[in-house]
Amino acid sequence: MTDLLLATTNAGKRREFGRLLAHLPGRVVGPEEAGVELDVPEPFHTYHENARAKAEAYARVSGLLTLADDSGLEVAALDWGPGVRTGRYGGPDVADKVAYLLEQLRGVTDRRCRMVCVLALAIPGAGEPRIELFSGVMQGIVATRPRGEGGFGYDPIFLLPAGITTAELPEDEKDRLSHRGRAVQAATPRLVELLAG
Ligand code: IMP
Repeated sequence: MTDLLLATTNAGKRREFGRLLAHLPGRVVGPEEAGVELDVPEPFHTYHENARAKAEAYARVSGLLTLADDSGLEVAALDWGPGVRTGRYGGPDVADKVAYLLEQLRGVTDRRCRMVCVLALAIPGAGEPRIELFSGVMQGIVATRPRGEGGFGYDPIFLLPAGITTAELPEDEKDRLSHRGRAVQAATPRLVELLAG
C-alpha cells in the first residue's frame, strides 16, 4: 500500500476529497503532511492542462502518487464562462464572487449552469510522472439568492432540479451528485488498483 498525495490547499475541496477518498486503501495526505509547499500557477485555458500542471509539479517534488483537480462553474448566459477562470472570477473572496455572479445575472431568465471537475492523477516512475485524467459534471440553475449553510464556493446559489441548492444537501448526497464526486467515482477503480498494488 502507498500514500496518495492530494494536491490542493482549498479547504472546501479538502473536506470533500477527504470524504470521497476515505474508503480507498492507503493513506491520503495533504501537501503539509508530505512536506511539500508549492504555488503552482494555473495559466492554461483548459481544466485538464491546469490539473495536469498541478499533479505533475507535486508528484515530481514528493515522488508520491498524486491527485490534483481543476474545477469551474459554467453559465449558459455567460457563454458558458467563467469556466476555467472561475477561481479568479469576481475576486478572491467567496461572498464577493457570489454577489458578483448574481449581479451579472440580474434580470436574466436563462440561468442554466453546470459545475465541472477534472482530476489529474500523476503516477511517478522512471522519468516524468505519467498522467491519467478523469472528469465529472453536475447540471443546475443559478439561484437568485443564496440558500443553505453546507458546501463551499458557489454551493448556496447552485440550484438542483430538485429545487434545493447544493449548500442545502446532506454531505453524502453532494458527494454522490457533484462534479467532484462523479470525477472521483470515475477515478476510483484506477486509484484502488494503484493504491492496493
Ligand atoms: P479552482 O478549481 O481552484 O480553480 O477553483 C474553482 C472555483 O470554483 C472555486 O474556488 C470555487 O469558487 C468554485 N467551486 C469549485 N467546486 C465547487 C463546488 O463544489 N461548489 C461550489 N463552488 C465550487
